[in-house]
Amino acid sequence: MKKKVAVIFTGGTISMTLNSETKAATPTLTSTDIMSLVHHIKDFTDLELIDFSAIPGPHMTPEKMMALSKVVEKKAKESHIDGIVITHGTDNLEETAFLLDLTVTTFKPVVVTGSMRNASELGYDGPSNLASAILTALHEDSRGRGVLVVLNDEINAAREVTKTHTMSLDTFKSLAFGPLGIVDSNHVMYYRKTTFKQIKLTTQEMVSDVALIKVASGMDSRLIDFLVHESVAGMVIEGMGRGNVPPGLMPGIQHAIEHNIPVVLVSRNPLGRLMPSYGYAGGGLSLKKAGVIMASNLNGQKARIALMLALGQTKNLDELTALFQQFSSVS
Ligand code: ASP
Repeated sequence: MKKKVAVIFTGGTISMTLNSETKAATPTLTSTDIMSLVHHIKDFTDLELIDFSAIPGPHMTPEKMMALSKVVEKKAKESHIDGIVITHGTDNLEETAFLLDLTVTTFKPVVVTGSMRNASELGYDGPSNLASAILTALHEDSRGRGVLVVLNDEINAAREVTKTHTMSLDTFKSLAFGPLGIVDSNHVMYYRKTTFKQIKLTTQEMVSDVALIKVASGMDSRLIDFLVHESVAGMVIEGMGRGNVPPGLMPGIQHAIEHNIPVVLVSRNPLGRLMPSYGYAGGGLSLKKAGVIMASNLNGQKARIALMLALGQTKNLDELTALFQQFSSVS
């Protein structure tokens, strides 16, 4: 008997065609339309197709991601399903993939894919990405690796990968570590395992009201003060370098923490970890002393997803700090 893969379609460019009048892409293709373009896939597997939504990536919300997570969890529990593939817009694919990684508990492969070119374009990469994602979901070595992202024949871990290019097919990169493996002539090959601890932040009550702010030279506290005034549930700040901010931001950060609003710090640099190495006003040490939570090497958008889920578990600053410390753990 052939193994069975559930393919859940959420939308994105992989489901889009060009409108003849506007010449702009919108989602028009159903799961059946898209799968009919993945020739010979039935020689490898039986598929179950699920139309979850038909939205572009930027219309995906944390609430919809949570609803998707529940569908994935339910499918993973079905004994006749061997693996799960999800199609998604590439713009924020890494956010949904990371949320699934943190919330779905299964050893079965869960693979997220999409495409950079729509179905009206020459060289539409949807079918090849779907084929590689399905082959990855079928492979024994994909089990227990957490959520995977497969595009352009590269297999990456949701924890590590980010979209790096606005139009290249070779856009999804684990910048610090390289891919986990590749799909080569229909063969799935792994080169390495991710050594990051597999973290689960399962909660029924994700708190999505979390802001993300990018730091730039000379910034003051007005944006943060506004967020405190609005009683935002939490904020992630993309600081500079090792984790520093201009001194003008310190009063706002202290103000937020005094109001029990957790402030999570990441770096606006794409590579490297945070460290409280600098002792000047706004330096990492002053941020740490103020109670800012350092989020290791997560990028801003992923740290925001983690904070939304963590806030569903606890609002206590010490407990949140301990939860975020786990992201630094490697085995
Ligand atoms: N803007 C598109 C989306 O995220 C890009 C893509 O799918 O590649 O839906």
